[in-house]
Amino acid sequence: MKAVSSNKVKDIITKIENKLINTLGTTLEDATNDDIYKAAAGCIRDDIMAKWADSRKKVEDTGAKKLYYMSAEFLMGRAFSNNLINAGLYDDYRQAFERMGIDFDVITDEEQDAGLGNGGLGRLAACFLDSLATLDLPVMGCGIRYEFGLFKQKIIDGTQIEVEDDWLRDGNVWEVERPELSVEVHFNGYIEEHWTDEGLKIEHKDYNTVVAVPYDVPVIGYKSHTPATLRLWSARSKQRFDFHSFNEGIYEKAMADQAFAEVISKVLYPADDHMQGKMLRLKQFYFLTSATMQLAVKNHKERRGDLHTLPDYAVVQINDTHPTLAIPELMRILMDEEGFGWDEAYDIVSKIFNYTNHTIMSEALECWDENMFKLLLPRIYQIICVLNEKYCNKLRTYYGNDEGKIAYMSIIGNNQIRMANLCIAVCRRVNGVSQLHGDILKEQLFHDSYNLYPQKYLAITNGITHRRWFALANPELCKLVQSHVKGDILKDYTLFEKILPLKDDKAFCKKYDQIKQDNKVRFAKYIEKKQGIKVNPNSIFDVQCKRLHEYKRQLLKCLHIIYVYQQLKKNPDYVTTPITFIFGAKAAPGYARAKDIIRLINSIGDMVNGDPDVKDKIQVVFVENYSVSVAEMLIPAADISEQLSTAGLEASGTGNMKFMMNGALTLGTMDGANVEIHDLVGPENIFIFGATVDEINNMKRYHTYNPGTVFEENPNIRDICNCLIDGELPRVGKRKYSDLYQSLLFGEYGQPDQYFVLYDLPSYIEEYEKVYDKYVNHHDEWVKMAVVNTAKSGFFCSDRTIKEYNEKIWNLKPVK
Ligand SMILES: *Cc1c(COP(=O)(O)O)cnc(C)c1O
Repeated sequence: MKAVSSNKVKDIITKIENKLINTLGTTLEDATNDDIYKAAAGCIRDDIMAKWADSRKKVEDTGAKKLYYMSAEFLMGRAFSNNLINAGLYDDYRQAFERMGIDFDVITDEEQDAGLGNGGLGRLAACFLDSLATLDLPVMGCGIRYEFGLFKQKIIDGTQIEVEDDWLRDGNVWEVERPELSVEVHFNGYIEEHWTDEGLKIEHKDYNTVVAVPYDVPVIGYKSHTPATLRLWSARSKQRFDFHSFNEGIYEKAMADQAFAEVISKVLYPADDHMQGKMLRLKQFYFLTSATMQLAVKNHKERRGDLHTLPDYAVVQINDTHPTLAIPELMRILMDEEGFGWDEAYDIVSKIFNYTNHTIMSEALECWDENMFKLLLPRIYQIICVLNEKYCNKLRTYYGNDEGKIAYMSIIGNNQIRMANLCIAVCRRVNGVSQLHGDILKEQLFHDSYNLYPQKYLAITNGITHRRWFALANPELCKLVQSHVKGDILKDYTLFEKILPLKDDKAFCKKYDQIKQDNKVRFAKYIEKKQGIKVNPNSIFDVQCKRLHEYKRQLLKCLHIIYVYQQLKKNPDYVTTPITFIFGAKAAPGYARAKDIIRLINSIGDMVNGDPDVKDKIQVVFVENYSVSVAEMLIPAADISEQLSTAGLEASGTGNMKFMMNGALTLGTMDGANVEIHDLVGPENIFIFGATVDEINNMKRYHTYNPGTVFEENPNIRDICNCLIDGELPRVGKRKYSDLYQSLLFGEYGQPDQYFVLYDLPSYIEEYEKVYDKYVNHHDEWVKMAVVNTAKSGFFCSDRTIKEYNEKIWNLKPVK
């Protein structure tokens, strides 16, 4: 060890000891793990604060344009190790802990995940902040400080049980409350218009007030100068205890006001890719967008005076439609509070906002009941009505009097307010999240708008931050790759490709393969400790982890495991090298079908794991509580990355990118970013199966999909399906998964299964045999393929994604 580094380590120990005594009143000997976590985190925080304040000032002083990245979700995970990596202090802290005789991993386990998101959409927002900060681009991420994040999942008796995620219970070291920046948000009431000397004045009367209090969290980039700020809004009532009403004897009203306010930031809605038209959800979104827009306007006015120049200093990205109300809210502020005319205000608004679409599934497209909306947000409703009227008139000049088309494209229709239509009407740029998804937006979902405004539409493929998903999750592989390239790979993702020739270097491949093996052992220890399950680290780790949704087709994987089981019963040599099928997935609590599939996975597990004929050959494991921290452990251990979505339905996927980078081979459909993985690594380094988007669309258009035919013509498929209902699966009682069986064979509402599970099953089984053969009989080639995947994964670093957004949409300049 270098002498400098050793001094650094000593300094760190001294700092932690001082922190323990000064802020927690304890010593190293007496401290609990939580004390040590808090003290160490406090030390890191101290280092961050000065730099953060400095850079905020620099952004203001230089008048740099700033991005507001608005998102209802930020799935941040833990900050401790990530901050250490980005500050370049990770190894020093690990050594300091070693010197103190404390297990670093046990201490980092004290931190709660910031689980303020459901899945990919929220995680994307988190990766973007890391990349924006690393590239020194000024950004404020704007979200909600949910007191309860996404529920924690327990599996009891094969069934998902949801437990509240009280992540703030022991405090949050990383946040700074900023009560001085609080703003009021108004709900309900009515609107009065009256003419004055200065024209028409709008007055909002008799409203309910909620106070929005910001909490700021620094997001430090990798060796960067300009940390990002994540601003999370928390809801309070105006008077936390209204003494006046207490005295007046209207105590109940004061309590009701408090309840009205504080419930707003209480909990994250746990539905992913599914819209919930609940009043409270609408309140959350208006709360977030109003608070953010008020402060953005106030900030600009204070510093620059003239609001007309706002588009030169601010740009807004809205992550899916959830923050769409920022658009009419900025109109409201400019007109009602700043005295702008409509056209003047609209001119500014139409330059500032941009929209990222994340799904084309109709059940996920956000729309609000007009009557509910009107009651909750009377002024915003008026503004949307005018936006709609003007938009429809514009459409008429183009589409003539094709009123059917206009009704379908309008912002308001069928007593619903359609947020995606509002976005595409007003936003300057609309982007899809992979090349394929961008094409589908142009050709299908937003086709008629695309014809009108082709320049609005673009596709920017998602990415992941390799600081978290490589350096932190897979430190040994990161070190190996880094040792073979010149330059800092964590700063320059293009260096990944430099290891491509090493695919033919036997010594390199051996090391690469050994790291995978070590990661499998690490995961085996983890799952034994957490869930008491023993897995064989010498088996193939076949992993499907992501939210549970029918379109992601965990059910297809279930049917395949049943198939392997049935084959093994006939032929014990069907599998020679054992396979561990690993699932991780949370289901939305109200999504009965998804929860049924979790039950099915665990039933299959019981059938397989308890059968002496097969239990040394295959094993099914369900990892509880899939989350960012679990993903960091699981993904580096995977051999096979299961990406099975029905073609056209996974807009991008980002899990696929994490697996690829960490050397798992993709077994997937031609969907989302899988297509780009395929194009980058070449067809010989990926396993593709199933119908393409065009084939799916044709089957839908000409009604040619008949699951019954697949069933009749293929005895294997028949046996697999029958297993769902013939009573062989344990712990199902009277319910033999007949709902699932029915849905596969007969679909719903007179439509055949819209996810085409049986259609793709034969093709999946066939491709799986190639995967298995490659792993078992040509293992050297397998490792080579994995190396190619890591080498080609640089493209999927979110630094590349952010550079594209910046060139095509934001035009921010780095602040150093
Ligand atoms: C990356 C990630 C996801 C997204 O996974 P997909 O396979 O793209 O759906 C979801 N949840 C967590 C915790 C993740 O880290």
